Amino acid sequence: MRLVLASRNAHKIEELRRIAPEIDWAAMPPELGDPPETGITFEANALQKARFVAAALGTWALADDSGIEVDALGGRPGVWSKRYSPEGTDAANNALLLEELQSVATRTARYRCVIALVGPGGEHVAAGVCEGRIGKAPRGEGGFGYDPLFCPVATPGRTMAELAPLEKDAVSHRGAAMAELPRLLSAAGLRA
Ligand code: IMP
Repeated sequence: MRLVLASRNAHKIEELRRIAPEIDWAAMPPELGDPPETGITFEANALQKARFVAAALGTWALADDSGIEVDALGGRPGVWSKRYSPEGTDAANNALLLEELQSVATRTARYRCVIALVGPGGEHVAAGVCEGRIGKAPRGEGGFGYDPLFCPVATPGRTMAELAPLEKDAVSHRGAAMAELPRLLSAAGLRA
């Protein structure tokens, strides 16, 4: 089964390939440019990215839209997780998050991921959530994004960046959404 991955995020691509190695993942051709991402929900953005690639190539495409919701920030940065700080780098985003939570006791948060499978025959979506809390300082070298600050409920005492890759996949929002991929492929008529 060949699917085009509607993403240029190397970390996401690595994780999606690792979670579903049975899929023949194709990269987005560079000349396609970047898919638009102007929605205000994860689902809208995932659909927008997958539709863009599917329409341009006339084939099935899978997109992931994801981010972190922090309760003390009213759910921010949410769909704007990549562009939370002006710089938009992982380091600057994490620094801003620590700054905003400096004197905040309630540090509950969650990662959300929506995947969208779009092609000639239709559109199919699935969502995954990973509950956790924001630590006081970054820890760990693995993962990407907010992982050094995010402690999943499922792995007490360890940040997402301190988990082995397969441990992350077992508890992550992306792993949970991708667990639905067989259902999406069946709904799309791409597998028996
Ligand atoms: P998107 O490319 O618009 O979906 O933005 C995703 C952003 O959410 C990333 O750039 C990270 O900041 C954050 N994010 C999503 N998934 C993860 C994850 O698994 N670990 C850490 N940060 C994540």
